[in-house]
Amino acid sequence: MGGGQRPETLAIVLGDQLDEASAALRGLVPGRDVVLMMEVAGESRHVPSHVQRTVLFLSAMRHFAADLRGRGLRVEYVTLDEPDNTGTLAGEIERAVRKLRPRRVRCVRPGEWRVLAMVMESCERAGVGAEIVEDEHFFTTPDEFAAWAQGRRGLTMEFFYREQRRKTGYLMQGRGAAAKPEGGVWNLDAENRESFGRDGPSPMPPAPPRFEPDAITREVMACVERVLPDLPGRLEPDAGFSWPVTRAQALKALQAFVRERLTGFGPYEDAMWSTSPATYHSVLSPLLNLKLLNPRECCEAAIAAYRAGKVPLQSAEAFVRQLIGWREFIRGVYWLEGPEYARRNGLGSHGRLPEFYWTGQTDMNCLRQCVGQVLDTSYTHHIQRLMVLGNFALLAGVHPKAISDWFLGLYADGVDWVTLPNTLGMVMHADARADAPKGVTGVVGTKPYAASGKYIDRMSDYCRGCRYDPGERHGPEACPFTVLYWDFLIRHRETLRANQRMAMILKNVDRMTRETVVQIGIDADLLRRRLGVTPGGEGSRADGKRRGGDSNS
Ligand code: SF4
Repeated sequence: MGGGQRPETLAIVLGDQLDEASAALRGLVPGRDVVLMMEVAGESRHVPSHVQRTVLFLSAMRHFAADLRGRGLRVEYVTLDEPDNTGTLAGEIERAVRKLRPRRVRCVRPGEWRVLAMVMESCERAGVGAEIVEDEHFFTTPDEFAAWAQGRRGLTMEFFYREQRRKTGYLMQGRGAAAKPEGGVWNLDAENRESFGRDGPSPMPPAPPRFEPDAITREVMACVERVLPDLPGRLEPDAGFSWPVTRAQALKALQAFVRERLTGFGPYEDAMWSTSPATYHSVLSPLLNLKLLNPRECCEAAIAAYRAGKVPLQSAEAFVRQLIGWREFIRGVYWLEGPEYARRNGLGSHGRLPEFYWTGQTDMNCLRQCVGQVLDTSYTHHIQRLMVLGNFALLAGVHPKAISDWFLGLYADGVDWVTLPNTLGMVMHADARADAPKGVTGVVGTKPYAASGKYIDRMSDYCRGCRYDPGERHGPEACPFTVLYWDFLIRHRETLRANQRMAMILKNVDRMTRETVVQIGIDADLLRRRLGVTPGGEGSRADGKRRGGDSNS
């Protein structure tokens, strides 16, 4: 760190706060104030972070720092390989505050309870209280969400979403209390469940644009390989890094999505296809979560394309709903439920995360393809996460913390405020409050997203290349998803029975003979042991230490 005059304001900018209009930067005066940015190994190790996720964060940070310097601001930038680097955010904040002795420290609300506490406590220790300002990237503050949630029996995203539509005016006809949703309905999800059929998409969806690494990114890649050589994921030439790392590149990615893939996004939102990893998904979530893109400009670009007759309403609405509905709702839940939320385990699952989540080595084709994609790119789209990678963890009874940490560290868009409620609530159906009324089994989800191999077969081509049969639940060909699906329903039937939305499916369980129920339990136990979910099985993690220790505890 260089020396200099005592600054008036020290503005901390964290790796996921690369917003050029950030409230932390507002009013900073060149020559008087200082921006602090830090690369620390601890943030790539507290959960094992994919090497491409780490490179993306650090490269985007270095480009952002260069932009700030271009605006005349002084940036104190701590690199990962700086000899004095303490390796932790707390250590670096404390060191900078003691050295620079600013009159005030300002930071936008971090995206994680742990980091919020770390920022406040380290500033306190260094003798200057931190001013935490709200993140204006979002449409709704945590206080506004809490006011909306107050007094409700359950939190339903759809009702929250409708209020967001009214508030923003997005896809609304008319103004004020008389405003109506475009097309007469709020939600066109029922039209958005198409598969690609047996023959696959024709033509293939255009792939998202690739951005070749520039000199800064290449420098970061070398630095990460040197300082953090044991991170999971691949960074080889044939699985090259191609993420956007600047605001200009992020805008190009947004334009390409709206121009080339938004039309198909709505109808094929739930579809998967092995030779089209992204299908019609935007792949913009890492750029949004780093704040290189603003959700307003994304929504407005989609709405403009709809108004120009270039995309159907079902696609524009689905995309806008993700941004102003689901994303904001999830963040609201994260701050509303508090740090204790992370420890919930509503279905009492304690299994280990199988080793193949780190290697892709499994004979289940859907999981091999999806994990392979994660290892190659630090990304899969939403349905691969929910219905393959997450679904398996739910059905097998993996501990929610183990799979949450995996999603957090392995995905380029992984940040706690979004990953935790999505995994704990939506994927694992494990976030029920201890005092929840009977029939309310989750905060985020109204029912578990549990599905057998038949769902995966209907929505993808994975099963065609697999040694298992998605329709079988017993015998050597039995699909593990199908075996574990019925076992899941059997194990949790009394808990789920209070949920009206599960009544139909549980009738199938009730009709089973006692012999069938026992056989499914035996088959599922054997599977869990073989796949390493149950300790001692051959698929257990062999080298947890290398990847940051056992996160199942
Ligand atoms: Fe996955 Fe089962 Fe289909 Fe194989 S048969 S790809 S394990 S769902």
